Amino acid sequence: MALELIPVDQWGFFTLPKPMVIAGPCSAESEEQVMETARGLAKEGIHVFRAGIWKPRTHPGCFEGIGTEGLKWLRRVQKECGLKVCTEVASERHVYECIKFGVDMVWVGARTTANPFLMQEIADALKDTDIPVLVKNPVNPDLDLWIGALERLNRAGIKKLGVIHRGFSTSEKSEYRNAPGWQLAIDLASRFPSLPFFADPSHMGGDRKYIKELSQRALDLGFDGLMVESHCNPSVALSDAKQQLVPADLGAMLSSLTVRERDSKDQGYREGIDQLRAQIDILDENLLYILKSRMDVSRKIGSYKKEHNIFIVQTARWEAILEKMIRKGEEYGLSEKFITAAFGAIHEESVRVQDEILEAGQED
Ligand code: PEP
Ligand code: MN
Repeated sequence: MALELIPVDQWGFFTLPKPMVIAGPCSAESEEQVMETARGLAKEGIHVFRAGIWKPRTHPGCFEGIGTEGLKWLRRVQKECGLKVCTEVASERHVYECIKFGVDMVWVGARTTANPFLMQEIADALKDTDIPVLVKNPVNPDLDLWIGALERLNRAGIKKLGVIHRGFSTSEKSEYRNAPGWQLAIDLASRFPSLPFFADPSHMGGDRKYIKELSQRALDLGFDGLMVESHCNPSVALSDAKQQLVPADLGAMLSSLTVRERDSKDQGYREGIDQLRAQIDILDENLLYILKSRMDVSRKIGSYKKEHNIFIVQTARWEAILEKMIRKGEEYGLSEKFITAAFGAIHEESVRVQDEILEAGQED
């Protein structure tokens, strides 16, 4: 289903230049902590403040959020610091409380996106409101689940929609808390080009030392914005203490990022890029011709094997080809992963065309 969207520059939330930034503590803990952090962030030029009011914690007994009380503090942030405020909703009740207290925007957390019952409940509760909603990726790398959540909200009339990539839980060990699935996020962006895309380097990295590199990576890949956790005193934070930056460090981190443009009208750039793209176009045509020629030979091999009653798949031969190509690829600076994927696809097609030859014979 196509999404009917209102472009983010019409939400009145973010001012240029990009990236759009949402920042604030993992959790609202006390009125003082919320106000001090918000004042610090406003000084750094941040316009949109985040703070978790209800916290989905892995273990019971941890700080599970201050609850509705904290919404009053967010109202103070709006009034005294002039910031837009947003928080996470995971139920119909959370949505109603946010509407009642005039929260400007809400986001759906990773654990909730993965739950269609809750997504429907939230979408129904938001019906007929004008509140923008950002949807974090589900905990597991399931693109359809992520899209399904967006569709439920859109069907309920929510047109100010965006997404936040916060990485995925994996069973494999990774240096990051939640491994980024850049390719999956890019696939989603190319399906919905007008959907604003945020990255959450705090929850991806799980440690403040990764925030800069993950933010830069997101911008290099064309993300529109960042959601970063920031706390006036992270060492005493009641949740996610390791992955929050003090407002001044966040400001410094943001100014150190290189913001790239999607395109440029600069004449010199245009000429250079056009020339390089012309080279790529020629190489792609050559690649295609080589692939076609390779498949022609595969067909001949197919007929020859058929004449001599030989199996199509010769595992040892395929393994030898792959090994040789990986070795050669290494000399050319091509990664093993890439060679394995590219030759895997070529081999699969080669088997398919040989199979076609065999089948054709059997119909006679
Ligand atoms: C959060 O933003 O504080 C949060 C709980 O995020 P996630 O849903 O990505 O775990
Ligand atoms: Mn958090």
